[in-house]
Amino acid sequence: RAKESGKARSELFDERMQAQAVDALQTEDDLALAVSQGQLRLHYQPIIDLRDGHVQGVEALLRWQHPRRGLLQPSDFVPLAERSGLIVDIGKWVIAEAWRQLEEWYSTIEDCHLTIAVNVSRRQLANAELLDAVATNQPTGPAGSALLVEVSEDLLVADANAGFSTLHALRMMGVRVAVDDFGAGVSSLKHLQTMPIDHVKVDRHFIAGLGRRRQDEAVVAGIIGMAKSMGVGVVAEGVESHEQLDALRRLGCDSAQGFLLGRPNAEVGAVIDLARSRPATPVQPADEHVPAT
Ligand code: C2E
Ligand code: MG
Ligand code: MG
Ligand code: MG
Repeated sequence: RAKESGKARSELFDERMQAQAVDALQTEDDLALAVSQGQLRLHYQPIIDLRDGHVQGVEALLRWQHPRRGLLQPSDFVPLAERSGLIVDIGKWVIAEAWRQLEEWYSTIEDCHLTIAVNVSRRQLANAELLDAVATNQPTGPAGSALLVEVSEDLLVADANAGFSTLHALRMMGVRVAVDDFGAGVSSLKHLQTMPIDHVKVDRHFIAGLGRRRQDEAVVAGIIGMAKSMGVGVVAEGVESHEQLDALRRLGCDSAQGFLLGRPNAEVGAVIDLARSRPATPVQPADEHVPAT
């Protein structure tokens, strides 16, 4: 009897596995259509300059408006896109869309300085089509130097040489490079010195501990100190509380991003309004109006 129920259970298990496999196959077919059918979206999350509070730019975060399953997050489909190689085409779309958005902003906003950061995975960095995609769509004028590429730190360690030459090429084209989720991976502060980069983004797990965990504050202080000495900018990720924001200001962090400062937003207009509502130079407080008596 025990054997039978074991068998029943394993059949159930097989069925579930099979269902999952079918699901995955279907998703892969769907994903192949997502680009051509215009189902991909970029949501924009503001990145704030901590010195004066102005919006420096945004990070573009990929979403998939699936016809049946609704709005999907990167964790729902980026791993599959990487395994299947579809990430290369998806990445081309992301870059083209970011350039298009920058062109629009720079042609409609007076004295625009906004940047867009796009995420690039290992597979894309190793693929020559990334550089093609960047070059093909790059606008002339200031918009053409307003793109950043975010790469994860482990990508740089594991595949240093191939990765580095792509990053060098991007920088030659006027594209800036940020190391994403720094501190979470295996690379050390010392390694940071060898990377061809412009910014580091401190992983949100360290930011979460600010004001609560001494070790996290020490790590963040260390990254900021190192970055400063290298002339590299520091962005804090995942800022959710005023306590964290205060700690970051105190530690001299350049800029920050997180739910406290603005959620990823589908409405580009909302990002622009935010940028307009926070002036690039601090406004002098107006003299208090004293009514004449
Ligand atoms: P990431 O590049 O580190 O992006 C930041 C993630 O943290 C985003 O998740 C964002 O929504 C989330 N986040 C922002 N502020 C906060 C906060 O205050 N608290 C918390 N808990 N989370 C916050 P999302 O959009 O789900 O993206 C997840 C990851 O997917 C990204 O991590 C990035 O590695 C990857 N990804 C996103 N877009 C693309 C893309 O176009 N291409 C590739 N290859 N990967 C992408
Ligand atoms: Mg990122
Ligand atoms: Mg990140
Ligand atoms: Mg992350």
